[in-house]
Amino acid sequence: MARPLLDLAGVRFGRLVAESRAPSVRDADLKVVTYWNCRCDCGDTCKVRTSCLRAGKTQSCGCRRQETARANYEAARAARWPKKEEVCHASVH
Ligand SMILES: [Zn+2]
Repeated sequence: MARPLLDLAGVRFGRLVAESRAPSVRDADLKVVTYWNCRCDCGDTCKVRTSCLRAGKTQSCGCRRQETARANYEAARAARWPKKEEVCHASVH
């Protein structure tokens, strides 16, 4: 029943390098979701879903999104950027 776990340790995804597997959690559908502790090129760390890493959805700790946000902000000069770290940093304190 148990699928072999992907060993992503040391694998790079964009700015992130997977370091170690984080405890799995169950999502709203009770599916087991595997997270990896990742280190970003900016020096920060975060936990990212394996599926997000493999799909290329998550490629930084959030700093890349911040940069994108800043660009958007400067272009629009309107809205303030909302909380930027809620995805990756939700359980890292
Ligand atoms: Zn970063």
